[in-house]
Amino acid sequence: MMEVSIRNVRKEFDRFPALHDVSLDIRSGELIALLGPSGSGKTTLLRLIAGLERPTAGSVFFGAEDASQKSVQERNVGFVFQHYALFRHMTVADNIGFGLKVRPAESRPPKDVIRKRASELLDLVQLSGLERRYPSQLSGGQRQRVALARAMAIEPKVLLLDEPFGALDAQVRRELRRWLREIHEATGHTTVFVTHDQEEALELADRVVVMSQGRIEQVGTADEVYDTPNSPFVYGFIGESSALPVRVEGGELWLQDRSIGLSVRDVPEGEASLYFRPHEIELLEGCGGCIAGTVAASRRVAGSRRVELEIGGENHKVEIELPIEHPAAGKSRIAFRPRRWRVFPAGAERRQRAA
Ligand code: ADP
Ligand code: MG
Repeated sequence: MMEVSIRNVRKEFDRFPALHDVSLDIRSGELIALLGPSGSGKTTLLRLIAGLERPTAGSVFFGAEDASQKSVQERNVGFVFQHYALFRHMTVADNIGFGLKVRPAESRPPKDVIRKRASELLDLVQLSGLERRYPSQLSGGQRQRVALARAMAIEPKVLLLDEPFGALDAQVRRELRRWLREIHEATGHTTVFVTHDQEEALELADRVVVMSQGRIEQVGTADEVYDTPNSPFVYGFIGESSALPVRVEGGELWLQDRSIGLSVRDVPEGEASLYFRPHEIELLEGCGGCIAGTVAASRRVAGSRRVELEIGGENHKVEIELPIEHPAAGKSRIAFRPRRWRVFPAGAERRQRAA
């Protein structure tokens, strides 16, 4: 068990900043997911924790100890990568025991202990009996389970998983996700899991770290990042969202020449963007203080109906979600108001893109 603290870490590759000032406290025993689009710096952050990269500035603490200058071996971390192949010429049991076998003589367990540990781990990853197989005789999902057993064999302080299920098909991924959560509950390793798949992150992790362009956008439980996104990026990246340009005037939100019945505090007067989730709205009858729009398209999505509304004369479109049977689904004009929403000052998105 080990807590990891990343403090003001910057990482440049040939002057290109892959990570800007990143700070993050990973709690002992938690399963934390680094979630972000490709190129957002997830792998770089994981490699810095592992000791495969050194920060350009800042430090990485393991417990109370500054691990920044320590080697991978000294940090005693376990890894699983998307394509980190097993050793092809070694059996499953030898693959799992490898990390123990290559230890210096004074800390290397005896052979039979290594064999026993390998077979316990195979039980844990639900592959008992496959000790003598070679990697080529396993399915993709089985190989990744062996890779996880190998990573755990050294009793790592921290387990680092970089898109470990990325190469597998959707069905297997979902199974392994549930399975990993169970293993984590049984073993309690501090685990950092990298993924670009929001569903995977939200379902699996105790906390999700949303990353974009080398920065942490938000850290929180699945509920927190989904229900209260703190930036336009998080709104757009996790779940679905609608955005509408509005104006803040006298502490109220305005759409063209009418107030939409929402008041704000802590947002400067002037141009702004209103964000909300398509399903978090209430329909209204008349429109005194609401958003009204013309139905531009309507489609069924699983158990509900998605309606695309054209708002005002300026061709802004938003999506709202209605129950399938709702009579409004047949109307050509609909008035609504978001139940849960956030307003960001104009420029919040631009600043983000430029960053
Ligand atoms: P992610 O894992 O989120 O896809 P990475 O951490 O791999 O992102 O990369 C973040 C950024 O750093 C990218 O722009 C990538 O091109 C750059 N980068 C990563 N590793 C290197 C490297 N060894 N040399 C140069 N640039 C790198
Ligand atoms: Mg990556």
